[in-house]
Amino acid sequence: MNLVITMRDLRRVCVYGAGTLGWQIALQCASHGRRLSLYDISARALERASLSITTELDTWLEAGKVSDREKRSTLGLIKFESDAVEAVGGIDLVIEAVPEKLDVKRRVFEELDKVCDEETIIASNSSSIRISLIENATMRRDRVLNTHFYSFPWRSRVVELMRGTMTSDETMSSVGGFMRSIDMVPLVVRKESTGFIFNRVWRAVKRECLQLVDEGVASFEDVDRAWMCIYGMDSGPFGLMDRVGLDVVRDIENVYYGESHDLRDAPPRLLLEKIEKGELGVKSGKGFYSYPNPAYREPGWLEA
Ligand code: NAD
Repeated sequence: MNLVITMRDLRRVCVYGAGTLGWQIALQCASHGRRLSLYDISARALERASLSITTELDTWLEAGKVSDREKRSTLGLIKFESDAVEAVGGIDLVIEAVPEKLDVKRRVFEELDKVCDEETIIASNSSSIRISLIENATMRRDRVLNTHFYSFPWRSRVVELMRGTMTSDETMSSVGGFMRSIDMVPLVVRKESTGFIFNRVWRAVKRECLQLVDEGVASFEDVDRAWMCIYGMDSGPFGLMDRVGLDVVRDIENVYYGESHDLRDAPPRLLLEKIEKGELGVKSGKGFYSYPNPAYREPGWLEA
């Protein structure tokens, strides 16, 4: 028997939530010629997203990766939208990027289900929440899935696709085709997994690093130095956590803890203390390092 899986061309996109990952996903879509709406509940978040996108494009311009015309045409493809109904009208694919909280995601999916066209596919960029925990907030369980991007998609390129209990083959192949069209590498998660594929690897690294510092075995700077020297990377796990946002890191840990109820999975004290002081990483100007000029970028820093 020949099974033919149909694939829809998903042309019109909405990124729902314009925070750290939302603006990056929007830029990845627009820089590959996709017209899209970028929605956020907060006007300030939309302003910050617009600034971040322009700043990133300026960096690409200076590096000769885009021309001035390409920069302007990319910007012209993004409609910053503060009206949710306008943002999703006539859209083929919505990529949700709101905070990593199950109740917030379920509420957003319920609202989206009401205002989106019947055929619209709704994807979650959640870092750890399985779509099967969200899908019954909608009446379109065959058209929902996880699409998990990593920071700076133009560099990381991987996007993990994970289905819920009823996600159709058509949804998976259509979204896979869309991802390839914006130069992403779609990896299919073969069975439900909190944390998908690479996030599970990254989680093990991040927890061990936090524990090393919490136990007083090493300074966070030396953990990063080791990582940067050995892997030749431009930042270490603590620099990376700052970029993700320490509150987002905590929320992700809480998802694992909520599932296992094992205290070893609870967010480490070191992380909670930082968050209590308002030190959230790059977005608040201070996390483990201070921004915009973190110490690990200074000449000679690796030599301690
Ligand atoms: P963020 O806190 O930077 O941004 C979230 C945005 O959602 C904010 O701008 C907020 O105003 C907006 N928002 C809140 N409620 C909303 C609503 N009801 N409707 C519309 N917008 C709403 O968070 P983030 O780091 O961009 O994370 C977003 C999602 O992406 C999370 O699920 C997170 O786990 C995931 N993710 C984050 C990273 C990362 O590096 N930060 C990486 C991969 C995946």
